[in-house]
Amino acid sequence: MPRKLLIVAAGGVLLLTVLGGGVAWMWPSAPAAKAPRVRAAAAPASAPLPAASAPEHSAAASSPEPAAAAAPASPPAADPRSAEGPPDTAPAATRNEVVATPAVGAEAPLDRLQRRLGEVLGARGAVETGRAGELRVLARSDRWMPVSHGAAPAPRPASVAPWSYSGMSGPQAWGRLKPEYSACAKGQRQSPIDIRDGIALDLDAVHFDYRPGSSAVVDDGHTVQVDVAPGSAIEVGGRRYELRQFHFHRPSEERINGRQFEMDVHLVHQDAEGRLAVVAVLLERGAAQPLLQTVWNHLPLEQHAPVALPGAIDPLQLLPADRRYYTYMGSLTTPPCSEGVLWLVLQKPVTLSARQIDVFSRLYPMNARPMQRAAGRVIKQSN
Ligand SMILES: [Zn+2]
Repeated sequence: MPRKLLIVAAGGVLLLTVLGGGVAWMWPSAPAAKAPRVRAAAAPASAPLPAASAPEHSAAASSPEPAAAAAPASPPAADPRSAEGPPDTAPAATRNEVVATPAVGAEAPLDRLQRRLGEVLGARGAVETGRAGELRVLARSDRWMPVSHGAAPAPRPASVAPWSYSGMSGPQAWGRLKPEYSACAKGQRQSPIDIRDGIALDLDAVHFDYRPGSSAVVDDGHTVQVDVAPGSAIEVGGRRYELRQFHFHRPSEERINGRQFEMDVHLVHQDAEGRLAVVAVLLERGAAQPLLQTVWNHLPLEQHAPVALPGAIDPLQLLPADRRYYTYMGSLTTPPCSEGVLWLVLQKPVTLSARQIDVFSRLYPMNARPMQRAAGRVIKQSN
């Protein structure tokens, strides 16, 4: 049953109807220019943001929103068990978001009301357009949930780490640990694979539309992950995929003609329909990698406690100059091992120093899923 909250405004009466996860708010008439007074609201406007729900399968690709400094601490949105990305390509779990469109002639008061309602309901201030005079609360993907920027550590989720890279909960057992992990055992198009015998073609270049932006580094219990603010994307195959996060594996999960590298970095992207594209960059021992050093310098002391990186980082710095690639269809390399992931593995590695490898090894000496069968999949490669 919908709950109805009566809000008396200077120019009329607002009816706030709470329907399960959504809220509809209609102006019965054009609001007065004077500031409306909220007599009754869902909660005190000064209440802290409700702790965002952290569903078991919230998107790993959670992204901090830029300049979210005013937002109180919130638990990390990342699914600590899903370094590769959201559990599948279906829309992530949702939460409420307030979206408002000021009516003509009512700017500041409605803005303030929107902001206060947003605070109450857990919105993070994003505003989209809609019909004039209508204030809506929309479902919002968890993948956009901001991470706390250097805030106090969130409590460790109770469900953390049901899987691991060794022992009883290691890769051989993933598919049996939970029903939703069954693809790890039964999937036919799993990752990683040994990339060999690719068909050499004149593939369209991947367009890296990466921009410097804010980010936060988190140790999710399986890897070191950097959640990046919206704004960077790749374009390939006529689709645009937004960069959500990047993270690391040691040794590399990808192999090229049987060769395994010291490490790799996976840049996880998602398009508007939820499809995933992961760019893999192989890391070999050599000169130090500057961006990676910035990340290492801010390694969190505790798991699941994101630490904001100072200033903007440019993900382009992670890429080799030569962007030719291999491509095939595979899966997440962490539970739930969802398939339908477009893999773009850059052919040329970049270097990182022995010392940088050692730093990561202190945390994760081995966090690579074993090789999966290519099973006749088509692998293409840029000439
Ligand atoms: Zn990965």
